[in-house]
Amino acid sequence: MKQFDRKYLILILVLCESLVLYARQQPGSSLQPVGFANVKIDDGFWKPRMDKVSTVTLQACINYTEVKTPRIRNFERAAAKTGKHEGIYYDDSDVYKALEAMAYSLRNHPDAAMEKKADEWIDKVAAAQMPDGYLDTYFQLRDISKRWTDIEKHEDYNAGHLIEAAVSYYNTTGKRKLLDVAIRLANHIDSTFRLAGNHWVSGHEEIELALMKLYHLTNNDRYLKLATWYLEQRGHNYGYSPAWTDPRSHEYYQDDKTVKQADKIKGHAVRAMYLYTGTADVAAVTQDPDYLKAMERVWEDVVYRNMYVTGGIGSSGNNEGFTTDYDLPNVDAYCETCASVGMVLWNQRMNLLTGESKYIDILERSLYNAALDGLSLNGDLFFYGNPLASPGNYSRSEWFGTACCPANIARLVSSLGNYIYSRNDNGVWVNLFVGNKTNVAIGKSAVEIEQQTNYPWDGMIQVNVSPEKKSTWDLHIRIPGWVQGKPVPGDLYYFLDKEVSTISLQVNGKVASYTIEKGYAVIRREWKKGDKVLLNLPMPVKLVAAKEEVKADAGRVALQRGPLIYCVEASDNQGKAWNILVPPAAHFTSNGFQKDLLGGIVTIQATLPVLTAGADGMSVVTGTQTVTAIPYFVWCNRSADPMQVWLPQKITDIKLNY
Ligand SMILES: [Zn+2]
Repeated sequence: MKQFDRKYLILILVLCESLVLYARQQPGSSLQPVGFANVKIDDGFWKPRMDKVSTVTLQACINYTEVKTPRIRNFERAAAKTGKHEGIYYDDSDVYKALEAMAYSLRNHPDAAMEKKADEWIDKVAAAQMPDGYLDTYFQLRDISKRWTDIEKHEDYNAGHLIEAAVSYYNTTGKRKLLDVAIRLANHIDSTFRLAGNHWVSGHEEIELALMKLYHLTNNDRYLKLATWYLEQRGHNYGYSPAWTDPRSHEYYQDDKTVKQADKIKGHAVRAMYLYTGTADVAAVTQDPDYLKAMERVWEDVVYRNMYVTGGIGSSGNNEGFTTDYDLPNVDAYCETCASVGMVLWNQRMNLLTGESKYIDILERSLYNAALDGLSLNGDLFFYGNPLASPGNYSRSEWFGTACCPANIARLVSSLGNYIYSRNDNGVWVNLFVGNKTNVAIGKSAVEIEQQTNYPWDGMIQVNVSPEKKSTWDLHIRIPGWVQGKPVPGDLYYFLDKEVSTISLQVNGKVASYTIEKGYAVIRREWKKGDKVLLNLPMPVKLVAAKEEVKADAGRVALQRGPLIYCVEASDNQGKAWNILVPPAAHFTSNGFQKDLLGGIVTIQATLPVLTAGADGMSVVTGTQTVTAIPYFVWCNRSADPMQVWLPQKITDIKLNY
């Protein structure tokens, strides 16, 4: 070959390789989220809750982190290189999670005193960082020679939460100090680990998804490579911890198989959720089909066999996670608040990756039920576990020894703006129905989108669309599975009444023409300033049954209206919640919005048989009573009341004396 031709051939090859690399690193068909910083929430349901998180929940987190526990003091001591570490090895993460929640909160609820507090903490965190970038107060104050020797010690979990906090704080305030700390730490981890022949498994996943946030912010593919490296380490028996010498423990932290081989949900629920969120983040960029297939298999295993009707997961307290398929006890449900937060994160990523609305259906279920249940109406008490029934001995707490849940629910509620929309150059996706205003770039045009709604109490949603100039693109509005007669994908839960409600969708007062794609109604038209889209999702009360394999729910029904699962609590029902029978013909109806009850809720009611124990100890029907059910997420805001989500249909299934 002539010199001339060879040169061109090499040039063409290099160009082709660059194009392939470029294509692999672009989001491809994936959607991009519209971040919280671009969404102004003004919603009757969420805004008061977000304000409560800003004014009460975060103050509680600050108080416990700084005053009532030694979490901040550990950083002060690490900076001074003197004194003992107090508390548990993962306590640093609570500081970072609180900082992350403060970052979101400052966007929704600007507060100079809170920003000053965050800056003060950030100064302390920065001062504690070692010159080589390492930062973990446990090892710095105990024995630095032991760092990176025990995968259980959460060093990279803590680092992940630091990175997440840093990215969020930078996004809200534009301040770089914490981001620079995070970058130094990420670089330290990268140069320590990502070397030929070097291996390490994160004992508690989290850093993978955090590195992907850092990658998207900085565009430095070092962090994408490190996140991918973390994924690839799993399943080869590389991890070591004296805490886990039993080979079975590899399942606990998802190390029994490679991520690409994963086919069952196993082990610790929060670990699994964070791992799969990070995996979906990596797959969205690299478009690696093996990761996508693994995620779909595991997701089906969760949703088809291992999820509560509330969207909660992880039924057992023994491993804070999964046991066997369909093992979903109600009173003893573990169902950690953080695991439900993880379901929101993972399902959002799966939706971004695939564009399928079924993931948002699950996100919505977990968000409005199992996750929101973790926070009291006053914002100052928390659930760690979220059972679906209580004989009256379960209550909320101010704080926990392992305090992952309070700051986690705080950061979820304050970051709600992250989950409402997604976009690409051809259109916008309306995922959640929340009153808000945002500006979205679609192709070359900027479009203002506003939602007005009383969701979840009412299914009427108005979407006002105002492009800068007339432009043609697709508006995708999620049509929830529950309005189409399918509470969840798969058949783990189903409605007894098969009737499907008729939705209505209008544009500027006229019936809209739309197609259904991937669970979204898609309206394609030339949009102009002032266009109004009106969606009506009817919300009849539905009785839900579980697949017969779920023994705990056999012969029982749950109640759902819109996206909300309801429960019966003793306070509304003459002091009892375990004496109620729901015969097949029972008919519940909405009792309207009760503005003075539990912060304002729609209750539902039915006239039902109630029972007492007869002289022979058997249950006997003693009459009928108007039974009131309340949304599950507001239970236990009055006292440690008896409560049930799954109500018996047969007299023999009633347990009066638990
Ligand atoms: Zn937790």
